[in-house]
Amino acid sequence: MTVKTLINGFPRVGENRELKKVLENYWAHKISFDEVEETARVLRKKHWLLQKDAGINFISSNDFSLYDNMLDTMVLLGAVPERFAKIEDKNERYFAMARGNGDVAAMEMTKWFNTNYHFIVPELSDDLVFHLDPEKILSEYREAKELGIATKINIIGPLTFLALSKTTGRGDSFKYFDKILPLYKQLLRELAKLDESVYVQFDEPAFVKDPSATLLGLIRETYGELVAVSGKIKIIVTSYFEHAVEAVALLRNTPIWGIGLDFLYGPRNIEALQYAASKTIIAGVVDGRNIWRNDLSASLKLLEQINEAIPKERIIVSSSCSLLHSPYSVKNEPESAVKKYLAFAAEKVEEVALLATLFSFDRLFEAETSMLAENKGNLLSTLNLGVPQNGVAETCKQARDGTFRERNALQRERLNLPLLPTTTIGSYPQTQELRKARNDYRKGVIAEAAYEAAMKQYIDECVSFQEEIGLDVLVHGEPERNDMVEYFGELLAGFHFTKNGWVQSYGSRCVKPPVIFSDVSRPEPMTVKWITYAQSKTKKPMKGMLTGPVTILNWSFVRNDIPRSAVARQIALALSNEVADLQKAGITIIQVDEAAFREGYPLRKKNTAEYEQWALDAFRLAVSAADKSTQIHTHMCYSEFSGIIKTIEAMDADVLTVETARSGNKLLRVFTETAYQNEIGPGVYDIHSPRVPSPAEFREQIKARLEVLNKHKMWVNPDCGLKTRNWEEVKPALKNMVEAAAAIREEISRNADR
Ligand code: GLN
Ligand code: ZN
Repeated sequence: MTVKTLINGFPRVGENRELKKVLENYWAHKISFDEVEETARVLRKKHWLLQKDAGINFISSNDFSLYDNMLDTMVLLGAVPERFAKIEDKNERYFAMARGNGDVAAMEMTKWFNTNYHFIVPELSDDLVFHLDPEKILSEYREAKELGIATKINIIGPLTFLALSKTTGRGDSFKYFDKILPLYKQLLRELAKLDESVYVQFDEPAFVKDPSATLLGLIRETYGELVAVSGKIKIIVTSYFEHAVEAVALLRNTPIWGIGLDFLYGPRNIEALQYAASKTIIAGVVDGRNIWRNDLSASLKLLEQINEAIPKERIIVSSSCSLLHSPYSVKNEPESAVKKYLAFAAEKVEEVALLATLFSFDRLFEAETSMLAENKGNLLSTLNLGVPQNGVAETCKQARDGTFRERNALQRERLNLPLLPTTTIGSYPQTQELRKARNDYRKGVIAEAAYEAAMKQYIDECVSFQEEIGLDVLVHGEPERNDMVEYFGELLAGFHFTKNGWVQSYGSRCVKPPVIFSDVSRPEPMTVKWITYAQSKTKKPMKGMLTGPVTILNWSFVRNDIPRSAVARQIALALSNEVADLQKAGITIIQVDEAAFREGYPLRKKNTAEYEQWALDAFRLAVSAADKSTQIHTHMCYSEFSGIIKTIEAMDADVLTVETARSGNKLLRVFTETAYQNEIGPGVYDIHSPRVPSPAEFREQIKARLEVLNKHKMWVNPDCGLKTRNWEEVKPALKNMVEAAAAIREEISRNADR
């Protein structure tokens, strides 16, 4: 008997990001929608055939999307908010929901569980007229069928759809359950007509994130009713990224056919098997969201463990989640020391097939045994992780000296800043010339001297602009950085950069996360030259600018054979050396950005304490070299701190700048309620919008923030870096911001005099 195989979903952007390119050309009105469709068809065909050739039994359709699967599900259910309904062309409407259109604001986008993929958040309201539009699903199925492939149809499950939706009115989104379940039933009736046997995979990742009582309470009804109308359809309910024990215990009593479980990120799913003894188990054992080659013998052991509860004929070998989170193929990478240890989506498909073959034999033959031996582990045994480095480490402290109070007194004396000091978050507009200078230097078209001159010219202009408008704490503008993680990754040892390792982040946007494959260390200073140059141009304090250890870690692919905490610690050690050097060079304020601190939180509350501990330790270690009189800033691009405020407090940054221009005071209250002691810079300029707020609008923003924050501890700054804006917007906006801060400062001192 040969064990069967399944792939949860395949990346859709294409081997050479073809989808990105056609979409962007279409949005720029350079090509017609027909050309987009044509490319999409070519990509789907190629991806299906790749899986078919590898011998995969269950290949997905409807894993494809022109933008996002949640958005597709809104279209499927007719959940199109009122403001888009008037757009007649259905493609235009679809992309307007994702990206906005003229005055119509885009829908909110947020991260898909703990990945770096973003989905569009459904907005449910009482006036929506839900109705079924299954066209996309039906046509993709038929398209594959013409190629001789009867696909398994992927659909976001009704409970996950609701759990991830927001409502515009009162109550939570589950109140729409009775409206959407009938549509799912109607859909299944349609799908049953497609073929002799049809497989449907309902993705229910909401089951893994500490599922609420409401959600759990609906599982039996949902899947009981769906199976009841499904006729000959076989229903698979799939979860990933963590264990789904509670949900599986309930699914046991529904007549679904299969349950998909992630045994890598949810080891407790082994316990779930006791409830699934009569089901087919889709066993996620090949990592769908990391890039290391599979350790075949470890996976076989895992399959054998599953086999203790489930007979082989009811086990299907699969990826742990959709391969959407992996790059396309290692084949396109240049030779490197790391290459042979990597497996991207195309290779993972082969690994799933190979594992199923190996697992099918009761006994391994010599060839397989040696193949397994060769595949065992990856680079790691020879490496020296966790060992202190660069001298500093041995003597390095776990955290900086002094309490906030002590440090604050010294810093006030040294920096002599006014009330409501103004600053910016780091980057200034990235101009075409800047990108060209960086690229030309990289390619060797221009020499180092020319490159440096270009960077210095930018810094000069940036500094003089900031002086001109009267900002209090200046930055150098980050002209030398393409990306806040990539920049440091390239200067630190232990990082590998792929050539084509693109992963979809949202819509047409792809990111190429660095690969941390070895000991991380800092061969030489990374930012000192630029910051000291910038400081030499002004008497005002120039902020040093670093990316924090947790953010570097969370935005990279990290080895899976060692704890993430060990890697975080190494990065932190490297950064603490940089902090020491900046300080030695006379820099008095250093910002350590932790944009991705929150997204590293585990999906299960039970695991958060452990994460918080090591993430916190890493941050504190990174800034431990700072003297009491050196002011440490950190920045986070969000304002939802409610569950994590104690940890933020323990990070003990002297100043924390956050994003609040859109959300207002609501989320800031948590700082007052918990009596947060340190200084805060609430964003008053929404940098995601091209709008230039007037001085009056800035005054209102600042005044509103003063209602909840202590005026002696508040800063005035934008939400985030300005690199995606242009100078025409930034110049007047910052000028207005500084003017508004000055006016309010004036007002406060006048009132104090009276
Ligand atoms: N210092 C960075 C910048 O200004 C911070 C970016 C971020 O928080 N995403 O660009
Ligand atoms: Zn930010």
